[in-house]
Amino acid sequence: MPVTEAVRRQYLEAMGITRWERRGVHAVPAAAEPQAPPTAAGMDWDAIETAVRGCTKCSLHATRTQTVFGVGNRQAQWMFVGEAPGADEDRQGEPFVGRAGQLLNAMIAALGLKREEVFICNVLKCRPPNNRDPQADEVEQCEPYLIRQIELIQPKLIVALGRHAAHSLLKTDLALARLRNQRLSYQNIPLVVTYHPAYLLRTPSDKRKAWDDLRRARRIMQEPHA
Ligand code: URA
Repeated sequence: MPVTEAVRRQYLEAMGITRWERRGVHAVPAAAEPQAPPTAAGMDWDAIETAVRGCTKCSLHATRTQTVFGVGNRQAQWMFVGEAPGADEDRQGEPFVGRAGQLLNAMIAALGLKREEVFICNVLKCRPPNNRDPQADEVEQCEPYLIRQIELIQPKLIVALGRHAAHSLLKTDLALARLRNQRLSYQNIPLVVTYHPAYLLRTPSDKRKAWDDLRRARRIMQEPHA
């Protein structure tokens, strides 16, 4: 029995093919619509804040209490980038306000800076459930916000706190130990990789090395061209 056009379409739809062109007697799926890469290009501060607050691009929006945009001086010379909000940050809407935040504040103070003078944010703007590691698709969807924050601030130096921030900004998967003590940059902005404060709370014996990293960052800031 010849297959009618209506029956043929039912088969195609059952296979998930809902758009087609007729070529001779064969139906072929139409070319997929080109997907725009996630971007926040050209947004001003109000626009990114609004976009982040209403963002539903990944599944984390379903479990967050609120988004955590970033805090501090929008003309800062120093920018600190962490991984993702934890429970305290999710509750308060501000990055690094829990125990790791207290240690970060102490690290900032040891540099002779105030928390309000620097800019602090995370790669992810929403808390991953149970503080699990960020997933690749979450980073991909969220990092345009971070990229735009860096473009707007134009800091003189970025401190990447932990491997997730370093991997996201540098597009590498090298171990943190291989990234510390290296002359690195993000878009021509010097970038220093150091331990995440939460790791340092678990491994206080590495605080000395983190302080070495921060002193190196301060030396870079004091270089004439910085
Ligand atoms: N850890 C992070 O990476 N960011 C925060 O804001 C808090 C803890």
